[in-house]
Amino acid sequence: MFKSNCIQTFICAIALLATADFAVAQEWKSGVEWQEPPLVTPGATNDAPPSDAIVLFDGTTLDGWIDGDKWLIEDGVAIPRESQIVSKQHFGDIQLHVEWSAPAEVHGEGQGRGNSGIYLMGLYEVQVLDSFENATYFDGQAGSIYKQTPPLANAMRKPGEWNTYDIVFTAPRFKGNGDIDQPGHVTLIQNGVLMLNHFELMGPTGYTAAPHHQPHAETGPLSLQFHGDPVKFRNIWVREIKPSVGHRTGPPFNIQPEPKKEEPKPE
Ligand code: MG
Repeated sequence: MFKSNCIQTFICAIALLATADFAVAQEWKSGVEWQEPPLVTPGATNDAPPSDAIVLFDGTTLDGWIDGDKWLIEDGVAIPRESQIVSKQHFGDIQLHVEWSAPAEVHGEGQGRGNSGIYLMGLYEVQVLDSFENATYFDGQAGSIYKQTPPLANAMRKPGEWNTYDIVFTAPRFKGNGDIDQPGHVTLIQNGVLMLNHFELMGPTGYTAAPHHQPHAETGPLSLQFHGDPVKFRNIWVREIKPSVGHRTGPPFNIQPEPKKEEPKPE
């Protein structure tokens, strides 16, 4: 037993030495020369727009939206009226922050309670609904991609309280012939809870038709749905996602150790 332990310890020690020697001796490099990531000054809180954000609603005006004048702005919040609103600026890949509150006075049930929606590229609906103790079909509750997937959780705050949506959207890419090249993806965090994890979109949101990919421009507007309910919105901002930039200067490689210098032998 003693002998066996000794042999095991010896083998482990040799293995550790070999690993340590390898780690010190060689460093793996990707062979890509990366540009420095841009400096972005965060907001005072994580809900406040960072320095490079495009603010779409700061509580004062919906000038950045087509038909923004139709909605009611009251006490720094925007309330849907008459029609959807559509952002004048178009976007591709984005990080989007939206805060919304279901009406404090509860009316209706199912899809008829606190319904609105955030349409990415004007096509793909991230559902806004009062899902606090309000049963409906699961792929139609708050945080769903409407009729494509339920959210991973129900993380609703009570009616009248504010919810945050933080969305990461990768727009779909289409081939020259209109076929889908890379489907779009949506990640959503509501109130700090993961709701959608890089969900692969099946196509634009529909009500009667099955979703299927339909080619469109590389960018599109955001739109906020009017569904007849006085949902409140505030603090809407967006950041355009730009991929990291680098260029390959060579294949991946290991940095080799410096060769040991031979001590000169005495004459
Ligand atoms: Mg909706």
